[in-house]
Amino acid sequence: MKKKPNIFLIITDSLRFDHLSCNGYSRQTTPNIDAFSKKSTVFTKAYTPAPWTLPSHATLFTGLYPSEHQLVSGYKGITPKLSSNIPTLAEILSDHGYMTIGLSSNPWVGEKTDLNRGFDLYSEYNYKISSLKQNITLPAIWKLFQIASRIPKIRTKVMRRHHLISNLYLNTIIDIMSKNVNGQGEKKPVFSFVNIMNPHNPYLPHVKYLKKFSDLKYPYRYNYWDDQFNKYIQGKIVSDDNLRSQLNNFYDASIYEMDVQLGAFLKSLNDLGLMDNSIVIVTADHGKTLGEYERKEYPLHYMTDVNRHIPLMVYGAESLEPGIKDNVCSLQDIYKFVMEETGISELEKADEEKYRVSLSDRLNTEKYPFAFTEVKIPYAGNEDSSINDVYCIDDGRYSFLSNSSQDNILWDRTKDPSQVRDFSSEEPEISMKLSEELAAWIEFVNNFDTQGHETQDEANRETMNRLKDLGYL
Ligand SMILES: [Zn+2]
Repeated sequence: MKKKPNIFLIITDSLRFDHLSCNGYSRQTTPNIDAFSKKSTVFTKAYTPAPWTLPSHATLFTGLYPSEHQLVSGYKGITPKLSSNIPTLAEILSDHGYMTIGLSSNPWVGEKTDLNRGFDLYSEYNYKISSLKQNITLPAIWKLFQIASRIPKIRTKVMRRHHLISNLYLNTIIDIMSKNVNGQGEKKPVFSFVNIMNPHNPYLPHVKYLKKFSDLKYPYRYNYWDDQFNKYIQGKIVSDDNLRSQLNNFYDASIYEMDVQLGAFLKSLNDLGLMDNSIVIVTADHGKTLGEYERKEYPLHYMTDVNRHIPLMVYGAESLEPGIKDNVCSLQDIYKFVMEETGISELEKADEEKYRVSLSDRLNTEKYPFAFTEVKIPYAGNEDSSINDVYCIDDGRYSFLSNSSQDNILWDRTKDPSQVRDFSSEEPEISMKLSEELAAWIEFVNNFDTQGHETQDEANRETMNRLKDLGYL
């Protein structure tokens, strides 16, 4: 029997497609990712299922649309948790003989929301271990972080420096892999998920990287700029040229710093001889608005390409040839794709097949032409629980949006890349077609019922049975 591949799933939180130099960005932000992309399958029309962390990761881990898994909003005092009836990718892989490692720097992805389910080792955003099921020895450096975590002031300081945590996490994976290779660790194949936050504010890149992208002189006023960015993100101030320019500088410097770290990580995987039997996926959960749009205007900046269009590249898959693919796809497609690549067989229901797609299915654009995104606004940290749903269907050129009040918008990337003009009255046929497709999909996701998928035999239930009960395997 063929050896199961290791899977390294790297989520770069808030990394925009258009800020990678391999995607045509004018600045050299990502030399290492660029080199990696040359050996990988690069999807140039990948969209996120939701433009923020929680629903996006929940979709990545369950293969379900946000309206199905329902981890869509996080109001003050309410902690949304994944339904226990819904299996996660880590659980399924664990049931199929994988050692599972999850290292997340984002508090939405962990114990709080039950997205740590299925991981043998899971670390939270505050570098505390929320799950350690097996005899995994952590690198010695963890001791320092754990001592630091006991002192709140130091813990907060370290937590804000995303590059420190990224370094800790990426080195932890390498340390575990190196023990496995040397025969001191597990003999199992490894599934590792890591969320690194360098492209997510606060932006505190090392000064040597900041200097590459900004002409700021000492003192660099990190705190002042962080405060300004936060005010803009919260809609308290509007952006101007100076703010926009500095926001881009700090963002790009942080991306560059992350690229250096990813370069070292990929080199270590290669040095350990792991690249021949591993799948490495580098992608993002969503993008970032960097001052192009004002925060509270409609149509919403969340749904424009700066947030929905994500980088997605895959190395080492059996079902994908390296090269550029301009087929429309979604972050969601990783779930079914990993199942296929790891040899976990699937049974499909014909009526659901259209909406349960893997990355390799996407090579057939005629059959799978659309990506869907949805968001419930306001979505996080608010007192107000009145929600306005916004849905979007995308075919790579046109994005058709509809909200709860049935206000429709049609964007055309070819004629208006900044997505500010509504083409719905100029293109009534396209609007009508996309509107019908979107309505059919909304009906499909609204019919999903987690309560109806209880398994009969709790004690001996197999993951495959759970998936069959869920109706999509
Ligand atoms: Zn995120």
